[in-house]
Amino acid sequence: MHTDTIAAVSTPPGHGAIGIVRMSGPAALSIAKTLFKGNTAWESHRAYYGAFCDPESQDVLDYGLLLYMQNPRSFTGEDLVELHCHGGPYLVERMLKVCLAAGARLATAGEFSQRAFLNGKLDLTQAEAIMDLIHSPSQQALHMAAHQLEGHLSKPLRALRQDMIGLLAAIEANIDFPDEVDPPEPDVMLTGLEKVSAEVQRLLGTSDAGKIWKQGLKMALVGEPNVGKSTLLNALLRYDRAIVSNIAGTTRDTVEDDYNLRGIPVRIVDTAGLRETQDEIESIGIARTEQALEKADLVLFIHDASQPIHPVIERHMEHLSPEKVVLVHNKSDLLASPSARPDPDPRAAVEVWISALAQQGIEELEDRLYRHLSTHSLHTQDIAVNDRHKVCLLRAQEALVRARETLHAGLPFDFVSIDLKEAITAFGEIIGESVSEEVIHEVFHRFCVGK
Ligand code: GDP
Repeated sequence: MHTDTIAAVSTPPGHGAIGIVRMSGPAALSIAKTLFKGNTAWESHRAYYGAFCDPESQDVLDYGLLLYMQNPRSFTGEDLVELHCHGGPYLVERMLKVCLAAGARLATAGEFSQRAFLNGKLDLTQAEAIMDLIHSPSQQALHMAAHQLEGHLSKPLRALRQDMIGLLAAIEANIDFPDEVDPPEPDVMLTGLEKVSAEVQRLLGTSDAGKIWKQGLKMALVGEPNVGKSTLLNALLRYDRAIVSNIAGTTRDTVEDDYNLRGIPVRIVDTAGLRETQDEIESIGIARTEQALEKADLVLFIHDASQPIHPVIERHMEHLSPEKVVLVHNKSDLLASPSARPDPDPRAAVEVWISALAQQGIEELEDRLYRHLSTHSLHTQDIAVNDRHKVCLLRAQEALVRARETLHAGLPFDFVSIDLKEAITAFGEIIGESVSEEVIHEVFHRFCVGK
């Protein structure tokens, strides 16, 4: 338990309907009593209405609600008080200052959640889930964050850790009491290790799709100048984001925006026209296009259907794996008839005919993209490991492989125990059971102040 009491504004900066100042620690209630005038019995888990005053000047700052949650039944596990006032930035700041003057200390980033973790209210994956909830850009990301918050990631990890501890105990009992305890059966050990390895592999497999759901997928629009990239971008975003003009090379720099593709968060990048050029500024833009292609998860090659595909575009298409390639034949309104269309292009996973200007085929393009993504990279899932978890799981997996090799080689059991301990530590680090100060700091400093 901490001896100091922390305070911070927990609502975002700016003007709002309400602003919340939060305090946690042993003096939270006594500080609240000095600045709140109202009819309070100070019962836990009750909301009280009254006046917030500056204890020094006795000025009334605002009228609002006070929520008191007595330890251990609070988010942090400590005495916790929330002061709900009106959401004026100056007012909220003043409320915070009054709390600080009365003895609270300004909380650092993520300190409320860190206290919740240190007081055993949350494990580390649950604390991370709170951040994910706040930053979720999609329904699926919310779903995964809520599952993680409920403990659906820590539960299997705890079970794996427990299995490993069981195996380790069997080995160590035999090492310590060789005359009384038989050595474990290598086959039984191997089966146990394989089971754990398979589960680790399953968890690792959730990472890529999880990243897309949480951070969004990068989709680049690429094509020669004037083929209609900006028109398509505007049609997809449903508002005029990019300048449309028939002067080639108008989109000099990359234009980026967030786009929601049937629930999939997408970062869409409209690139400079792709072609060989003498113009210096335009060539900088083209270098950026090539970078965007490398980084993109999906590349939409936009092509003017009334023209042949330019060799530069063909080169870029061939350079990428077909799974990433979407070929969009735009300006299909200029074609005399659909029979003028060439055969399907094997270099593209998705190929559509649209008219961005007439907004024809946009829905079909979105349907096809969605279907392609759902079958290839974006299966829906209940949880996903993040990069920190992934590093630990890979470490555990390596240790498990070494342990199996040691067993296969018939080496003494104490060699196996080193690797089992490594895997146990790695699992413990994910949930926060065997975790260094450094890792804790790393996790919580990414939080905002007041969380
Ligand atoms: P970008 O340089 O590739 O971004 O192309 P723009 O979006 O600026 O469009 C270039 C020109 O092509 C503009 O005059 C657009 O109105 C026109 N355009 C875009 N899409 C279509 C289409 O589907 N059909 C026709 N006929 N013209 C289009």
